[in-house]
Amino acid sequence: MKIRKNIPLIDQHDKFGFWGEKFGGSFIPETLKKPVEDLTNLFQKLRKDKNFIKERDYYFKNWVGAPTPFIKLENLTKHLGGAQIWAKVVSEANGGAHKIYNATVHCLIAKKAGKKYVVGDTGAGYAGKMLSMAAKKFGLKCKIFMGAKDIKRQKPNCDAMKKNGAEIVPVYTGSQTLIDAVSECMRYWVSNCDTTHMCVGSTVGPNIFVKICGWSTSQISRELAIQIKKEFGTIPKKLKLFNCVGGGSSSFGFWNEFMHYNKKQVEFIGVEAGGPKNSKRHAAPLTENSKIGVLHGAMQYVVQDNEGQIEETESISAGLDYSGVSPLHCFLKDTKRARYTSATDEEALSAYELVSSLESISPSLEPSHAFAEAIKIAPQYNKNTIFCVNSCGDSYKDKDIIKSRLGKYIR
Ligand SMILES: *Cc1c(COP(=O)(O)O)cnc(C)c1O
Repeated sequence: MKIRKNIPLIDQHDKFGFWGEKFGGSFIPETLKKPVEDLTNLFQKLRKDKNFIKERDYYFKNWVGAPTPFIKLENLTKHLGGAQIWAKVVSEANGGAHKIYNATVHCLIAKKAGKKYVVGDTGAGYAGKMLSMAAKKFGLKCKIFMGAKDIKRQKPNCDAMKKNGAEIVPVYTGSQTLIDAVSECMRYWVSNCDTTHMCVGSTVGPNIFVKICGWSTSQISRELAIQIKKEFGTIPKKLKLFNCVGGGSSSFGFWNEFMHYNKKQVEFIGVEAGGPKNSKRHAAPLTENSKIGVLHGAMQYVVQDNEGQIEETESISAGLDYSGVSPLHCFLKDTKRARYTSATDEEALSAYELVSSLESISPSLEPSHAFAEAIKIAPQYNKNTIFCVNSCGDSYKDKDIIKSRLGKYIR
């Protein structure tokens, strides 16, 4: 299993849709074969179409607000006394997180396909919020599937979806969280695919959805590569890119443009949710002992029990609370191109507290996992090593959880 340097990673799958022969694929019911094939053909055509790229870039710039800032965290760097620490503040994008890139591209594709409806899943509510924003922008009717438990704990994002005119469909099956929302959404699409386009909220799902999402979020690293070259004159000899990993869309997007560098020069560090200290229900299929299985139409590492039943996970950050992970990351793990680790709820909270008290940014609990690892290892390096952390969400959405855990909220 090897990564090829001259082809985009999203295209390095075999004719059955598998990366490294075992991750991904397209496990779909017979009725979806045709719609998935149509979507695949349309996407392959559009991504080579100069006018479509122009349109995408126009909306990324003039609606999403790209490029997002790349800033040096001088106080944090000084405090830790090791590597230089920088952040890419993706939370400054319209809507407040990277999911806007995927949602924008999906709505543009839906328009080209002549569809009037879009449907999507959401966990923490960001994917739903962004899809509803993009749907409103491009004149599409939007339906969002969301677990009943998540509806209760992510009220601000639900309000945003309603404001944008989206219908929220509560899902009462299973654990009533993201995993069930994705299943329900896919089921709905099976019976409505003639009129409706489906957006999967991360680099997960059947092959084509992994590709569209990875292609969309790669905008982040395209910007970052330009910003880094401008700042340092070149890509530094030692660069480390830290990102939290839930489904894996922000991390893939943050790394893609640097894929062809040697890992000694540009290291990718993915941080999964380790859950509460001493808990066993980690949302960390790449770092804890998980097994390969099929989830939501693709083979991947999945948190499951000895009988192969998918296990529920637990994390303080709703955005990382998922039993599976993108096949792209399974491939990056097995080829050793990326290194994966996890941070506990407590470590993420301390990282949030340190960054928010020293700096002008205040990462949400998802990127706080990435900051936790950066903070942990920064003292082992000197200023010639450049750390860059993707601050892909803002803490404001987590303020109630943070207040209840730390007794205060800093932003
Ligand atoms: C959804 C979300 C994540 C996790 O999803 P990925 O696909 O791994 O990026 C992380 N951070 C934020 C802010 C999110 O909204």
